Amino acid sequence: MGQNDNDAPQDERISGKGELTRKRTVTGAAVDESTGLPYLLDVDRTVCFPGKVLSVHGLTSVVQTSDGHLRNCATRRLLKTLSTDLRQVIVAGDEVWFRPANENEGIIERVEPRHGVLSRSSRGRQHIIVSNVDQLLIVGSAAEPGLKPNLIDRFLVSSHHSALRPLIVINKVDLIEPADLQPLVGVYSQMGYEVVMTSVKTGAGIGRLQRALANKSSAICGQSGVGKSSLLNAVDPSLQLRTATVSEENEKGRHTTTTARLLPIATGGYVVDTPGIRQFQLWDIIAEEVAGYFRDLRPYASLCRFPNCTHTHEANCAVKDAVADGRLDARRYESYCDLYAGDPAA
Ligand code: GDP
Ligand code: ZN
Repeated sequence: MGQNDNDAPQDERISGKGELTRKRTVTGAAVDESTGLPYLLDVDRTVCFPGKVLSVHGLTSVVQTSDGHLRNCATRRLLKTLSTDLRQVIVAGDEVWFRPANENEGIIERVEPRHGVLSRSSRGRQHIIVSNVDQLLIVGSAAEPGLKPNLIDRFLVSSHHSALRPLIVINKVDLIEPADLQPLVGVYSQMGYEVVMTSVKTGAGIGRLQRALANKSSAICGQSGVGKSSLLNAVDPSLQLRTATVSEENEKGRHTTTTARLLPIATGGYVVDTPGIRQFQLWDIIAEEVAGYFRDLRPYASLCRFPNCTHTHEANCAVKDAVADGRLDARRYESYCDLYAGDPAA
């Protein structure tokens, strides 16, 4: 810690590898794994205000305050010193406390513990894309492009792996006979998943989607062209996200964002916009974990003869028995086998 870090409280001391000890409360000084920061690094709440980080641009974070005002904030040096991962002291979605510097600027003094973290690993390191996400909106389209249930299954596994509540949206229902989707929707509903059928063209399901997104932070995933941007524009027209028809025209000059951005929506809450999340993949899930993330398959897995049964080739497999007599959906089982084998999405 530098001598000129004059905003550091006197009872804080840095020791070892960025470990914080406080004279008063040494015993409870647990480090929050999500932020790498001690829980007890507190701020003076008479001069600091809470806010939410909408995006991070290098050293500056755009922080939204409770009245909707945006501020460009730097990060207090002590936070950086204490963080176990220097690149990720602040990420989009963080709940922070900042000290105002002037009307439009401030210094982030504290990061609250994170929940609902979406991350990916690159070169053996975990890289957080966005924090404090409540749910994952899994968007598919009934046609153009045709529905890929196996891709929905993949995203469901991802959502459980990240402990995010999934919400399945099937868009473009104006292009098909909705009754044709009922068998598939029935399978997901029976497992307890919420499925919303929507059409940006007719407005069907948009109200329901609006209610589902209100006052929550939602990440969106799904194949390109299914209508994610169109849906978000329908939920809140002021978002004015580029859709395929528009962006094709200026493809050349197009600026693609690579970092996550939280977009406040009119109903309260946020949607997370990032190409990285849209192409959300099964980054760190190992084959043996997959069965645990299949709600419908899981109850049978414990009845298999072999405790380490993979439910693919073994004899006396309760999962395969359940498929054979129709208790478990055969398509879901195939999806499981593809994921277990690590096959790319169909
Ligand atoms: P994204 O890549 O998932 O963000 O998809 P876009 O929002 O860019 O939409 C892709 C294309 O599908 C655009 O041409 C939209 O106009 C069209 N589209 C979006 N939603 C619907 C819908 O509900 N019905 C129909 N028929 N077309 C839609
Ligand atoms: Zn088995």
